[in-house]
Amino acid sequence: MAFQKNGFHTEKIDLFSAKCYHASMLKRIWKGLLELVYPPNCFLCKNFIPPTEDHTSKNVNEWSSGWDFVPSHFPSREELCPGCLKLIEYNRPPFCLKCSRFLGEDIRHPLCKECRLTKPHFDFAWGCCIYKDPLKDLIHKFKYSQKTLLRHTFLKFIRTFIADYHFDIHQFDFVVPIPLHSSRLRERGYNQSQILALGVAETFDISLSEHNLIRTRPTKPQIELSQKERWTNIRGAFRIKLPDKFKNKNILIIDDLLTTGATASEAAKTLKDAGAGTVGVLTLSVTLEK
Ligand SMILES: [Zn+2]
Ligand SMILES: [Zn+2]
Repeated sequence: MAFQKNGFHTEKIDLFSAKCYHASMLKRIWKGLLELVYPPNCFLCKNFIPPTEDHTSKNVNEWSSGWDFVPSHFPSREELCPGCLKLIEYNRPPFCLKCSRFLGEDIRHPLCKECRLTKPHFDFAWGCCIYKDPLKDLIHKFKYSQKTLLRHTFLKFIRTFIADYHFDIHQFDFVVPIPLHSSRLRERGYNQSQILALGVAETFDISLSEHNLIRTRPTKPQIELSQKERWTNIRGAFRIKLPDKFKNKNILIIDDLLTTGATASEAAKTLKDAGAGTVGVLTLSVTLEK
C-alpha cells in the first residue's frame, strides 16, 4: 500500500503506463475467454469450424506487430470451414506462360489473349486462385471492410500454390507491394497489398521493401475502367525513391488481383527502368480469360 501511495504522488506516469499495460492484458484474456465461450465460426457460412492440426504458420501469426490497425496477437485459427474452403478455386494449368492465367481448353497459344495483346513488362506472374466468388467477395471485404484477418487464409492459399507448382520464390531479393497513393491510403487506412507482401516476406524469408516503389499520383480505381483505359490510367503512376537499392536485384511484386495486368506491368516497367533484374508478380488471384 505504501508503494501505491508513494507511487501515486511521485510516479504518476509509471502508474499510468502500468494501468495501460494491465488493461491491455485484461483485454487479451477477455478475448481469449470469449473465444472459448464463442468458438470460431466460418467467415462465409457462419458454421462452427472444427479445430484442425494444420494451423496457420507461426511466422504468419507473428508478423503483425508494429501495425496499428491489427492487434499484435491473433489466435492461430481458420477463417473458413472445410466446406467453404473447397469452394475456393485454385489456379491450374494450362497456364499462360507470361501471366499464369488459366488457358482453358484452347491451348493453341502459349500466351493468353491479354498477354498477346498488351505484352506486359513483368517477366512472369503467378496468380494463385481464380478470381470468382466466394473468393471475390472475401477479397472485397479484405480490401474495403477492414477484414484484414483474412490474410491468414489468403497466405495459406499462396503457400499452397507456390508449393504445388514448385515455383522458385527464393530467386527474389525483395518483395514489393503495389503501393497506394497517400490520399487513397488515408481514405482506406491500410494497403491490402502491403499486408499480403508482409506475410509473403515473413513466410518465405525474403526482404520486404515497402517504401521504395511509390505512387506519384492518385489514379482512378482500375475496376471502374475499360480494359484499354486501365493502361492509360496507370501510365507513369509509379516512381522509385532510391533506384540503387533495386539495381540488379530480382523483385517480386505483390498484389491481391491480376486482371489486365496493367498495374503490375507499369510497376514492373518502373522497376526495370531503375535497373532491376528479374521482375515477377505474385497475386492472390487472377481473372479468367474474357
Ligand atoms: Zn463455411
Ligand atoms: Zn497471360
